[in-house]
Amino acid sequence: MSQRIQFTQTGGSEVLELVEASPDAPAAGEVRIANKAIGLNFIDIYFRTGLYPAPAMPSGLGTEGAGVVDAVGEGVTHLKEGDRVAYAQGPLGAYAEHHTLPAAKVVTLPDFVDFETAAASMLKGLTVQYLLRQTYELKGGETILFHAAAGGVGSIACQWAKALGIKLIGTVSSAEKAALAEKNGAWATINYTEEDVVERVRELTNGEMCDVVYDSVGKDTWEMSLDCLKPRALMVSFGNASGPVDGVNIGILNKKGSLFVTRPSLNGYADTRERLEMMCEDFFAMLESGKIHIDVTNRYPLAEAGKAQDALQNRKTTGSTVLLP
Ligand code: NDP
Repeated sequence: MSQRIQFTQTGGSEVLELVEASPDAPAAGEVRIANKAIGLNFIDIYFRTGLYPAPAMPSGLGTEGAGVVDAVGEGVTHLKEGDRVAYAQGPLGAYAEHHTLPAAKVVTLPDFVDFETAAASMLKGLTVQYLLRQTYELKGGETILFHAAAGGVGSIACQWAKALGIKLIGTVSSAEKAALAEKNGAWATINYTEEDVVERVRELTNGEMCDVVYDSVGKDTWEMSLDCLKPRALMVSFGNASGPVDGVNIGILNKKGSLFVTRPSLNGYADTRERLEMMCEDFFAMLESGKIHIDVTNRYPLAEAGKAQDALQNRKTTGSTVLLP
């Protein structure tokens, strides 16, 4: 038998329950992984609350983890039992001792990446890879605004931007979070609980504003983010921490300076095996070089997944959180 978290109705963290079940045998093209560490991500909260619909109920939760392959389905050639692996996409169900998923979504871990580091950073690191290297190919010297700069994705973005020679202005909600973002390489931070973000961006950039804004907060920051851009610059709306951006009148992009906007996702960028491998190679190289270091700041037993989600949702965390089976 094996333990996993599931939910049968959407709602607060109390809907999450720990259940015992026999681990699924892998079908053709799948592998089963004995998780050693599981990643906690804001997207897990979107599924739990119903903002993103789960395909079926009861549903598992979580899409990120690292561990050892313990069963291999027919036709899988690139993995074998005992391999150290990690994944950041796929069917919900990573919050579990065992998770079965398509082998095409699973990558072999290099020796220098331990299980906790992988579970804490695969989804977030690949996200930063596509945000900074593909959605807009930063060359060095640009100024960008990155919201939630002390969070899981934000902590990696600060380090990667610094390595690229980018001036990253990070928004945060406290002095402690500002200090962490700056330690990670943010060029400047704005505590939005005390300062006007648009005015501060204007001062910091001598009125020039930003080449790109990366906004994962959504509803609360959409318009303010557009106001932080140069004419014809790019708005990357990639999350909904405060609720989704909807009901947008597209004319606002004209009014605020002939702006561009995109709403990307990891699955939209790592949509083929080749692209997933390319993105992993880039991210793992950043880890190996030491330019990016992952601080696993928060650890919870799997059974306390709800408590971990509450901390993330209530802005209590910095950096990455892992669940331990
Ligand atoms: P974080 O660790 O960044 O936690 C979210 C942070 O957002 C909080 O700590 C808080 O930082 C800030 N925040 C601002 N407003 C709110 C609010 N109303 N409620 C809660 N938090 C708020 O989480 P993750 O690293 O897991 O994810 C960051 C974001 O990136 C999420 O929105 C997520 O959905 C998105 N994402 C998108 C992906 C994609 O491919 N599209 C992939 C991965 C993540 P502060 O206190 O400093 O304001």
